[in-house]
Amino acid sequence: MTDKETQEAMAVATPPYASDALAEGTVDAVVIGGGAAGLNGALILARSRRSVVVIDSGSPRNAPAEAVHGFIVLDGTPPSEILRRGREQVRQYGGRVVFGEVVSAESAAPSADGDLRFTVTLADGRRITTRRILVATGLTDVLPQVPGLAEHWGHSVVHCPYCHGWEVRDEPIGILATGPASIGHAFLFRQLTEDLTYFTHGTDLDEDSRARFAARGIRVIDTPVTEVVNDEDGALAGVRLADGQVVARRVVAVAAPMQARTQGLEGLGLPVRDLPTGRGFASGMAGTTEVPGVWVAGNATDLVAQVGTSAAAGALAGADINRMLAIADTDAALQGIAGGSPQGATG
Ligand SMILES: Cc1cc2nc3c(=O)[nH]c(=O)nc-3n(C[C@H](O)[C@H](O)[C@H](O)COP(=O)(O)OP(=O)(O)OC[C@H]3O[C@@H](n4cnc5c(N)ncnc54)[C@H](O)[C@@H]3O)c2cc1C
Repeated sequence: MTDKETQEAMAVATPPYASDALAEGTVDAVVIGGGAAGLNGALILARSRRSVVVIDSGSPRNAPAEAVHGFIVLDGTPPSEILRRGREQVRQYGGRVVFGEVVSAESAAPSADGDLRFTVTLADGRRITTRRILVATGLTDVLPQVPGLAEHWGHSVVHCPYCHGWEVRDEPIGILATGPASIGHAFLFRQLTEDLTYFTHGTDLDEDSRARFAARGIRVIDTPVTEVVNDEDGALAGVRLADGQVVARRVVAVAAPMQARTQGLEGLGLPVRDLPTGRGFASGMAGTTEVPGVWVAGNATDLVAQVGTSAAAGALAGADINRMLAIADTDAALQGIAGGSPQGATG
């Protein structure tokens, strides 16, 4: 599989849902991405009586998973159900959720009173003008190019001990190493099973780590993995090595590098940062960025955020956007008074 094919196999789309119409005129905020981060940001904004439009292409990162785990109260709920309820709640307060893909976002001429403006364009050519933007596009997990691996993603091929570790406890698990991050990953999975094999797969494993693995009973195999092998029912049965040997495993854990979904957002000029686990948009407190008027939240900036953390980050960003809009509204009102219009300039 090529990189593109692997990513397409992993970008599972949820079933299309009813879409609201795109708002006319200028809205207070456009949220790009309707996962946990984007929807929670939109919820805070809508409840603050801000006009908010979420534009979402419907392929959240955890779409392949049967349930969300590790999120208090909602543990065990399917991802699609959480998002369905989230969209409903945003709409309950007047927010709109539009099913579509943003292909371009860029700053536009400011309003007459100097307030920021952005133009956001969808794949079908529709456009919307907004005062502020919250980017919550999530990330892509970039799996190693091993035949058979991607088809089990989110089921028998897992990445996160907190998301599905309990579900694979006591199984024969293989760590398919991708680099130094896999070493720490192995100890977390060792907490879940006594039957753990570490496949170095061309990565370095220093002597100290080998000794620590040996102390915890983690077997190490240095022969490269060539493919994932299924049983007659299509379930993951093991991995084949370059020497032809098949090592029986029911689960493969992989610390796949993570890349923020930046496509279509290049026009915003948001800085990105490289981290040991991948690449994300750079952000500061409450999701602020170096680009005035643009915030980021969730996995697009915090690669290790889970659903709860992403939702919390979206809420913080939404509140900060509302705070900054309140300041801009007041500045405009003052300008309006100075110019003889008590309502202040808008539009
Ligand atoms: C297999 C798997 C299982 C997981 N299980 C768990 C779990 O059990 N518990 C847990 O807490 N976490 C889990 N996670 C992590 C969880 O998926 C993330 O923490 C969460 O999805 C991050 O939310 P988000 O809103 O930042 O991004 P996402 O949920 O990925 O949402 C981003 C949204 O933005 C949209 N989008 C992207 N680009 C555009 C664009 N240009 N235009 C319009 N829309 C766009 C996407 O379609 C998507 O709907 C799991 C992850 C994986 C891969």
